[in-house]
Amino acid sequence: MDRVIYMDNNATTRVAPEVLEVMLPYFSELYGNPSSMHRFGGQVGRVVNEARQKIANLLGAQPDELIFTSCGTESDSTAILSALQSFPEKRHIVTTRVEHPAVKNLCEKLDKLSGHKHRVTQLPVNSDGTIDMQLYEDSLEDDTAIVSVMWANNETGVIFPIAEMARLAKQRGILFHTDAVQAVGKIPIDLSQVPIDFLSLSGHKLHAPKGIGVLYVRKGTPFVPFMIGGHQEHGRRGGTENVAAIVGLGKACELAQARMDIENTKVKTLRDKLENGLLNSVPRSILNGHKTMRLPNTTNISFEFVEGEAILLHLDAYGICASSGSACTSGSLEPSHVMRAMGVPFTAAHGSIRLSLSVYNTEDDVDFVLEKLPPIIAQLRKMSPFWEGEHKGSVGGASCKCSCS
Ligand SMILES: *Cc1c(COP(=O)(O)O)cnc(C)c1O
Repeated sequence: MDRVIYMDNNATTRVAPEVLEVMLPYFSELYGNPSSMHRFGGQVGRVVNEARQKIANLLGAQPDELIFTSCGTESDSTAILSALQSFPEKRHIVTTRVEHPAVKNLCEKLDKLSGHKHRVTQLPVNSDGTIDMQLYEDSLEDDTAIVSVMWANNETGVIFPIAEMARLAKQRGILFHTDAVQAVGKIPIDLSQVPIDFLSLSGHKLHAPKGIGVLYVRKGTPFVPFMIGGHQEHGRRGGTENVAAIVGLGKACELAQARMDIENTKVKTLRDKLENGLLNSVPRSILNGHKTMRLPNTTNISFEFVEGEAILLHLDAYGICASSGSACTSGSLEPSHVMRAMGVPFTAAHGSIRLSLSVYNTEDDVDFVLEKLPPIIAQLRKMSPFWEGEHKGSVGGASCKCSCS
């Protein structure tokens, strides 16, 4: 492949060169165990704590409020399962219909397991992906153990009013968890100002490597470990630390803090140029998600009467990496749970594409996509019986026609 135009940064990001550089010694000469008594290991332990401090700085947290995990998914599971074990008499969980599978599937499993011991309220969202705060307030009950709501949505970039939601939970003595995997590094977060109990982040979504995550646990919040083993992380998560990845994540957080401005100026400008260019040049294209309450790097657009997977294949031929709002499972194209929760009409949900940028994208990348994508849509529509029908006014509701298998 000659050229890769990478616009799938909500799926994963490239490791920043500066991050890779600081990691390398921990794969070679600095291989000590941070828990060892000798100085060889001890120097590695100090480096782990320096990284912890850098991550804490980005979040407005105290270093000892951070627990290193293996990924965002582990952080999410740890937080939710901890809360349920801390308050065994409370059986209710509040979450939303648009969570990442790391939270959504866990909650649904808890709802079904052990004879419905736990009740889960999955809050709906409005058509622009935002939340109804009255519905949220009404969902909080006496036996609610935890609220778990993502800070920003991975498919649409829509940002939830997490500070306000956390305050409302706090007033009722309910623990509050936020999956901030997409938010960290893209929008300012200051945990010293918001009463959040648990926050999850993942290294590979902010230019650190895969296989490292963090769970923030506010000082004083009851905590029950998920991984039981050695005394690492003050007994809160057993297992020898992934030192190189931790060092890399520390550097990535330092970079993110320094680049937060660029994220909200340069990256946002590129995203807006891409988004407006597509919406203006392609008829029957619709933005999915709130226009402003949104991450600066993400756009999700539906092109009516085409299939997202087909668009992706054509983009891929040009080296353009994006993702679609439908998943090809068991031979049928199902619109994603996020598109369904937003009530995006079937014909539009099928043709939804997510483009997610990073500080490494250039104006050339955007111009290239603006040149290639509109003709792809036009070509696919020529072959679409639904588009034809729409033009002749004969076909109303299109049915699922799958071209993958
Ligand atoms: C990617 C992602 C996760 C999962 O993180 P992993 O480190 O891949 O386990 C969880 N939540 C959101 C919102 C994500 O985007």
